Amino acid sequence: MTRSINDYQSKLGKPNWCAGCGDFAIDMAIKQALAQLDYNPDETAWIGGIGCGASAPYWTSCYGVLTLHGRPVPFATGVKLANHKLNVLAWSGDGDAYGIGMGHFIHAVRRNANIVYIVGNNTVYGLTKGQASPTSQKGCISPSTPFGAPDPDVNPIALAISAGGSFVARGYAGNLPHLTNLIKQAFEHKGFALIDIIQPCVTWDKIKGYAYYQDKTYVLEESGHDPSDKDAALKRAYEQPEKFPIGLFYQEERDVYEDTQPQFENGPLAKHDISNIDINPLFEAYTA
Ligand code: SF4
Ligand code: MG
Repeated sequence: MTRSINDYQSKLGKPNWCAGCGDFAIDMAIKQALAQLDYNPDETAWIGGIGCGASAPYWTSCYGVLTLHGRPVPFATGVKLANHKLNVLAWSGDGDAYGIGMGHFIHAVRRNANIVYIVGNNTVYGLTKGQASPTSQKGCISPSTPFGAPDPDVNPIALAISAGGSFVARGYAGNLPHLTNLIKQAFEHKGFALIDIIQPCVTWDKIKGYAYYQDKTYVLEESGHDPSDKDAALKRAYEQPEKFPIGLFYQEERDVYEDTQPQFENGPLAKHDISNIDINPLFEAYTA
């Protein structure tokens, strides 16, 4: 069966992002990738946190959940563990992923459950009017840092590689075909796949728009980079802020979390027969 992006659009409405927002390209790239992979929307779960882009599950026909700030990754991991036959995608912004959700992020990377994590990284808290975020560069002027951000920025690519990431990539909302292909690769990877995406916030960041990144990005796949070379990947990760390579920095095969759990030997938990399980003794033991 051949699907199109229309199969993944919600009939309830369209995204309300600002005109020119990078989220439109990310949303389109995800839906194009799902269509090209011929994934059934009924077998695909799309989890969002809090943030402009993270609200995307509103506008898809896939199963969707908006969960707490910083929590889409643990929620998506839970979905995957309940039914590991589902295709599971989580979408955060940079604040959601690397601020409020930082602890979950690191542990999810090393745990390596088979989910795709998209982070729209615009280096500001866009939804709440442009405050500095964990990926804002030191010195960045914003409503919350009128004298310049005091802290150095988080480098998500270097962080994910060092935490044991098995698929670490960067996309760019200004290069839709490349981003679509990257998301397809992420779904085909067995393990936790991070795609940090440069996603200009055209409303609150008047400096780092598309023109700023156009000359700073280059495609890793066209540069002779070997994604199995961890040292080379880290070196590329530290090219920012002068250069922002896009593409697959690092990939390796290692144990996938759900494959190591004996509970799944008889299929997804969601399909197990629970009609003969009596939990009353458990309740009685803890409520007596
Ligand atoms: Fe996009 Fe920024 Fe508008 Fe949010 S505030 S929708 S991130 S342009
Ligand atoms: Mg942001």
